[in-house]
Amino acid sequence: HPALEITDLRKTYATGVQALKGVSLTVAPGDFYALLGPNGAGKSTLIGVVSSLVNKTSGDVKVFGIDLHAHRSEAMRQIGLVPQEINFNMFEQPFDICVNYAGFYGIPRAEAEKRAEEELKKAQLWDKARTMSRTLSGGMKRRLMIARAMMTRPKLLILDEPTAGVDIEIRRGMWKTLKEVNAAGTTVILTTHYLEEAENLCRNLAIIDRGRIIEQGPMRSLLAKL
Ligand code: ADP
Ligand code: ADP
Repeated sequence: HPALEITDLRKTYATGVQALKGVSLTVAPGDFYALLGPNGAGKSTLIGVVSSLVNKTSGDVKVFGIDLHAHRSEAMRQIGLVPQEINFNMFEQPFDICVNYAGFYGIPRAEAEKRAEEELKKAQLWDKARTMSRTLSGGMKRRLMIARAMMTRPKLLILDEPTAGVDIEIRRGMWKTLKEVNAAGTTVILTTHYLEEAENLCRNLAIIDRGRIIEQGPMRSLLAKL
């Protein structure tokens, strides 16, 4: 099964805005996939539908062959989500943030602690595991968001504009973490409006504009067209 298969997805908000006007795309297991497009293109709406935060108007979404509409909780168990805003408790330590998150998903304490160490190391945060999160730099906080999402060992990690508004040093640190996550076998999908980011990370991408996919394919062949 593809990691993600979207067929003719449409979303019209209550305001009448048609944010998605029939989007179809397929992401292979193990892929690193970018959804590139300007502000207002529909990227967050698409991510919102796939992560069950936004109700679709019509169309189909399958996650590793599991229909999101018919089997929502099973489909959601495959997905880790990194939202745009940093939303962990600044007065907790990274280690506890990761362990408690796993606990919420029913992962036993010993296993959670083992995973926290692994994920914090991948995110280059192990030396900060016991400091108060409030004192982490902006880049560290964003990498902690990734480590936390990985605690449930999702097969598909989805990130909504993970590096929007951050400087190039922070962005490079996040790219390194994301490359490690993908190299370890997790399918990664991110939205971005930075072509450079897509170019650096992704094997395949879709370019979305005003609710439609206007180009789709391997990064290399799309770059040749630009
Ligand atoms: P859904 O049906 O997917 O839940 P809605 O159309 O009900 O979505 O909108 C969800 C909320 O977002 C509403 O309260 C709406 O007022 C608010 N909203 C409206 N326009 C925008 C916008 N451009 N960006 C973000 N939120 C918006
Ligand atoms: P992107 O993530 O590419 O910037 P969005 O998915 O946020 O695009 O927005 C796509 C379109 O849908 C925009 O016109 C936006 O104003 C509108 N929109 C987004 N969220 C809502 C909402 N909750 N209610 C109404 N309109 C929305």
